[in-house]
Amino acid sequence: MQGIVQGVGFRPFVYNLAVSLGLSGFVLNTTACVVIEVEGDFGAVQRFRDELTSRAPVLAQVDRIMESTLEAAGYRDFEIRKSAGDREQLVLVPPDIATCDDCRRDLTDPANRRFRYPFTNCTNCGPRYTITRDIPYDRPSTTMSEFPMCAACQSEYENPADRRFHAQPNACPVCGPWVELWDRDKPVAARGEALGRAVALLREGHIIAIKGLGGFHLACDAANNAAVRQLRERKRRTDKPFAVMVRDLEAAGRICVLSDAERAILSGIRRPIVILPRRADSGVSPAVAPNNRTIGMMLPYTPLHHLLFEPTAGEQPFLAVVMTSGNLSEEPIAAHNDEALSRLRELADFFLLHNREIHTRADDSVVRTLGGQDLVLRRSRGWVPQPIDLGLDLPEVLACGGELKSTFCLTKGHYAILSQHIGDLENYETLQFFEETLDKMKRFYRVTPRRVAHDLHPDYLSTRLAQSLEGVELIGVQHHHAHIASCMAENHLSGKVIGVALDGTGYGVDGAIWGGEFLVCDFTAFERRAYLRYVSLPGGDAAIHEPWRMALSYLLDAFGEIEPDLPPFREVAEPRRRFVEAMLRRGVSVVRTSSCGRLFDAVASLIGLRHVVNYEGQAAIELEMLASGGEARGYPFELSGDPLQVDLREMTRALVADVRKGVSSTAISARFHRTVADVVVQVCRRIRREEGLKRVCLSGGTFQNMVLLTAVTSSLERDGFEVFPHRKVPPNDGGLSLGQAVIAAAR
Ligand SMILES: [Zn+2]
Ligand SMILES: [Zn+2]
Repeated sequence: MQGIVQGVGFRPFVYNLAVSLGLSGFVLNTTACVVIEVEGDFGAVQRFRDELTSRAPVLAQVDRIMESTLEAAGYRDFEIRKSAGDREQLVLVPPDIATCDDCRRDLTDPANRRFRYPFTNCTNCGPRYTITRDIPYDRPSTTMSEFPMCAACQSEYENPADRRFHAQPNACPVCGPWVELWDRDKPVAARGEALGRAVALLREGHIIAIKGLGGFHLACDAANNAAVRQLRERKRRTDKPFAVMVRDLEAAGRICVLSDAERAILSGIRRPIVILPRRADSGVSPAVAPNNRTIGMMLPYTPLHHLLFEPTAGEQPFLAVVMTSGNLSEEPIAAHNDEALSRLRELADFFLLHNREIHTRADDSVVRTLGGQDLVLRRSRGWVPQPIDLGLDLPEVLACGGELKSTFCLTKGHYAILSQHIGDLENYETLQFFEETLDKMKRFYRVTPRRVAHDLHPDYLSTRLAQSLEGVELIGVQHHHAHIASCMAENHLSGKVIGVALDGTGYGVDGAIWGGEFLVCDFTAFERRAYLRYVSLPGGDAAIHEPWRMALSYLLDAFGEIEPDLPPFREVAEPRRRFVEAMLRRGVSVVRTSSCGRLFDAVASLIGLRHVVNYEGQAAIELEMLASGGEARGYPFELSGDPLQVDLREMTRALVADVRKGVSSTAISARFHRTVADVVVQVCRRIRREEGLKRVCLSGGTFQNMVLLTAVTSSLERDGFEVFPHRKVPPNDGGLSLGQAVIAAAR
């Protein structure tokens, strides 16, 4: 059988099932699959076959079972055979899994030998991918190899009836890893005492770097305003939301409003950060997520995290603890003790370290839910390296992804193996993380790609990296084509579809910056059938950081002149405005763009919401937060030309009239979102008329906007379209590599 069947308690499960049915034979892990031979009574063999899938452990993902009948070999008993070192085919390394309920009970039971032990785990839970050095996944190939098991742990490990039977990271306070609390220079407490001290220090308002599963977090008390502000200052992060960790679902429900789907994903085995609507009286410092109606929240997923919320006698547990990645701005998350002590020195007051090595970094994953289903925005810990079944066989390909939120993708057989979130590929550290992870994944999955896909942008580090590889065939893939192909691949679509790709920036084939694109495409080619009519982007990157520049561009485009009393210019010094205006009028240092992200920026500035951003997507996010529910009427716009151009000048004029009339920004934002949804529906209708296509794929970072995604999806469906959004793979550039890979494989 094939699937995720290693390191998830599958062999013990097979063993116990076979023994309970009186069958003999063996179970064996190879790098390709699990091989089982059973012999015995015919009925018992049949029951074995049924229960093999129906009763499989929670973590197992069985993709294929291949069966054949053999001559009886006369086995005397059932045994678990040693892993065979077959180095040819695909093996699946399991992702890291949150502490299970049984282990959590051991943690809080004073009579248990693992009472308050921060590294307890079993076959149903614990570290996997982040500690694995090589395959097959066995203790000697993990970072637990440095901890020989004590007699008690060894006997659990060897006892098929025990929950820890063949749990590779099995450990206890006698033989396993331990924690130490350091100040910036030296250890100040160890083991049990270290945790208690760390909790006390958090309570006093200190910032502590805590070593977790896939890297370090920076933690502070989320109810302590001064501590949260200080963390912002030190991390040089002005407004970008921090994630928080809470004790359990009950605590989560006190801070945020939870749906059933959100409860399920919050408390499930993957434990991502879930973005949730926050209650007005949440008790969490407003500095955790300024100007935001939501909070990114997660539950504890390691024993160490659980212990942060298990107060000793007489203490109230924390309402919530900020847990933000241990890095400075966009560098990779710190993973090693010495690395944390140097790189996070100025950020943290204390360091809660441990001596189980993190072999592979993995950030927390991020999820939203929509219509009761999960939508993954950052696919990392808990998912990676679980492959995505593509439903068709592909040649081996490497796709290098984009620049922001970068990931790469390898294909093998009918699987796509997507890397964890690597980060923004703008500095040497991130590039190094990319290369290390790529080497590891190629080794784990025995992939040697001869074909390499990359973005068309010549200056992306991912493009340069692809170009530096020797002896490979390079395939450049247009950014928005890759977005749509990614959406098609995860939805198992083939043939032609209508692709709506809305995002901030993607390199176009005509030298313009694309980002409001309507394609007709399949995996091999695309046709650009419509786009947002070009406007000028003044000053390149500066225009991305300063939405008022885009407001100016849209105003000049719609009115031919600007009136300086409008909101964007009240806060911009007149000489700067005149300077940018001159740039726009003369066409100097401007690029043409159809970017949807920049359209959101322009509107956010026009209504006086935000003129300068300090993190990617901030203006669009705050604009989404403003848009209230309820049906708004859209603004007017025009469609003309071939390819079709979406002319938004009338919208700009009507929107400015609303601003002048004093219409609330909430109402304007709602009308604007409605307009974008109307544009999508009308363009799709035109394409349907001409091509007879009715399947629509929605991709690009703009579709992280739930107000827009909901409006677009329901309007299209009402109109008879079949709509395919992303679910398992991010709609943002984190999903780009998957699309590049399937396009390169198809060519
Ligand atoms: Zn467990
Ligand atoms: Zn032990």
